[in-house]
Amino acid sequence: MKYLNVLYSLAITFSLISCGSSDSSDTTPEPTNNQRSVNTNSPAPVTNTNVVQPSGLAPSASNTFVGEKGTLSRNGNKLFDANGEVIQLRGMSLFWSQWIGKYYNPAAVKWLKEDWNINIIRAAMGVEHDSGFLSNPEFEKQKVFTVIEAAIQEGIYVIVDWHSHEAQNHEEAAIAFFGEVAQRYGAYPNIIYETYNEPLRGDSWRNVLKPYHEAVIAEIRKHDPDNLIVCGTPTYSQDVDDVIGNEIEDDNVAYTLHYYAASHKQSLRDKAQQAIDADLLLFVTEYGTTEASGNGFLDVAESRRWWEFLDDNDISWCNWSVADKAEQSAALAPGARSTGGWSANQITRSGNLVRDELRLKN
Ligand code: MG
Repeated sequence: MKYLNVLYSLAITFSLISCGSSDSSDTTPEPTNNQRSVNTNSPAPVTNTNVVQPSGLAPSASNTFVGEKGTLSRNGNKLFDANGEVIQLRGMSLFWSQWIGKYYNPAAVKWLKEDWNINIIRAAMGVEHDSGFLSNPEFEKQKVFTVIEAAIQEGIYVIVDWHSHEAQNHEEAAIAFFGEVAQRYGAYPNIIYETYNEPLRGDSWRNVLKPYHEAVIAEIRKHDPDNLIVCGTPTYSQDVDDVIGNEIEDDNVAYTLHYYAASHKQSLRDKAQQAIDADLLLFVTEYGTTEASGNGFLDVAESRRWWEFLDDNDISWCNWSVADKAEQSAALAPGARSTGGWSANQITRSGNLVRDELRLKN
């Protein structure tokens, strides 16, 4: 999500906190709730940042989606499963972890899998702003680890997203975080690393972003030689064509394409097509049915054009977002409970549109 939306999120968060209009267990996450969810789900809760063993969780059962599909790998502009079949994943993105952390729990992940038919979920680690990772690393990390472990338990894929607009300014934090994730979870085929959500306009692919990704990837590959890594591209992950001729030298890398259907249309699909024709693997780790702000007009017709384009090219996607914020792109109505079981009137227009697509296609 773009920066304007960050400011809007801040305002919403503060208003929720200050007016106290919602049940506290369903708005701002509390340490006790978060800790409890980790402890019940993980035989090896994280107590420090120097853990060297994998989590000890059992791998996804053989009759689950990941149990059947296995480790993902790129060949040209397509993603393949371990059986050698082209695979297209469809699922949901959670909201910035520090602002709407209430859905970072096993019950919500399970509900999204069982009722929305997702086969992938994206955990969006909020890095800067407010109480993000940089100021509250252990607390935010536990939320993301909870979702990772729930995804392994449920047998779906999980994107571990460094949700930042200025990641190159604190590269060491990203390296430490992804190194720990790769150590703990890199043996599980479920994990997909997303090293940088949305660089800003003007961040050079060649001079800024590619070196950043290479540094983070080098750390991941020390611990995990094979899982897919998705790399953010210039201008809010839209300028995928900038990568052409300047690809990262790693066998299992994809490039991030983001769109908001009411703002970004055929010209962005044309740009994506250039990258596809150049044999790049694209991955839509986030998109909205609305304007780029995450709010405004909900464009159903253009959303369908995008889905057709993604299906035609076997491009995987996650929809923004599992959130009960009062904005058009949020999938849930304000106050929707944290643990799933949402009734029709707790799902928004965008949420129902996307849920129908997931249930039809997955
Ligand atoms: Mg691995």
